[in-house]
Amino acid sequence: MSLDRFGRNIHYLRVSLTDKCNLRCVYCMAEDMVFRPNDELMQDDELLTLMRLFAELGFDKYRLTGGEPTIRQNVVELVREMAHIPGVRSLSMTTNGVLLTKLARPLAEAGLERVNISLDTLDPQKFKRITRWGSLADVWNGILASEEAGLTPIKLNAVVVRGFNDDDVAGLARLTLDHPWQVRYIEMMPFGDVADFAQKQVVTEAEIRERIEREFGPLELLDNGKLDGEARLYRIPGALGTLGLISSVTQPFCASCTRARLTADGVLRLCLLRDKEVNLLQPLRQGATLDDLKQIIRDGIWNKPWGHGLAAEVIPLSRVMSQIGG
Ligand code: SAM
Ligand code: SF4
Repeated sequence: MSLDRFGRNIHYLRVSLTDKCNLRCVYCMAEDMVFRPNDELMQDDELLTLMRLFAELGFDKYRLTGGEPTIRQNVVELVREMAHIPGVRSLSMTTNGVLLTKLARPLAEAGLERVNISLDTLDPQKFKRITRWGSLADVWNGILASEEAGLTPIKLNAVVVRGFNDDDVAGLARLTLDHPWQVRYIEMMPFGDVADFAQKQVVTEAEIRERIEREFGPLELLDNGKLDGEARLYRIPGALGTLGLISSVTQPFCASCTRARLTADGVLRLCLLRDKEVNLLQPLRQGATLDDLKQIIRDGIWNKPWGHGLAAEVIPLSRVMSQIGG
């Protein structure tokens, strides 16, 4: 078990497979984003070595992310190796879905259990505006392919951005009427170069809920409001699926945080929204023993910050979301 100094059991690792992406979402990165050279990123053997150490330290839940995890070379083989690491009890992925038509089945067969797919709008033109060049049809087909491959329950993530897709909140919720999917709305968070944009265009959880209720009437609160991970769950009465509201900005869930992140360049990021980090790839490449590395991870986790400081205008500046692993 890996405890931090506040007594939280940190056992959930988000692993970034790459900082690169085949889209350029406005809330995530600049259009002319510069990526790291591949030799500065964890190679397959380095990634698997570090993941084994985390598993030995009690991390049992893993989510692969990025950048866009599906563009990592060998992603299927990597998933197969990861799924066999003793102690890995849950292995899922957050993806933009563009490549899932081709990859959903091989990933499922390799041991991936579930996917969260980012989908901010059902309007092809708006989709293009948000992602700068993505095709909604690719993502939609990817969602259907994932469902067919058994990567379920399907969760769809929407970041709500004023002036881009705030009018689409109810339309996305309508999907849950006849699909057993969870549509999750995420308050946009400020990072690095896109912090100013994110702060100006954020739409709060309260407004998102109001927009849905205006269309469908009062939502049913599920599980007495207990958080499911970071989401508070609701249902449109009679719907097959559910709605998740993720209010990282206005109602942070830091007290119940169980997670840490491993960036594609091999850095342990202790809190999404704090710049405090511990480099693991550097000591690994310099010949640190596995025991040394375990101790570095333990110390890092112990010193995980309590929570974010957005209310006090403390904004993470060292990396944008795609360089951390959302
Ligand atoms: N490329 C994959 C995808 O888009 O799902 C995985 C990486 S992406 C960084 C992970 C999640 O972070 C996505 O659901 C994305 O919408 C979300 N995200 C990116 N930038 C964000 C921001 N500024 N605030 C909140 N969520 C953000
Ligand atoms: Fe790429 Fe995901 Fe960032 Fe969009 S949110 S630019 S898909 S990493």
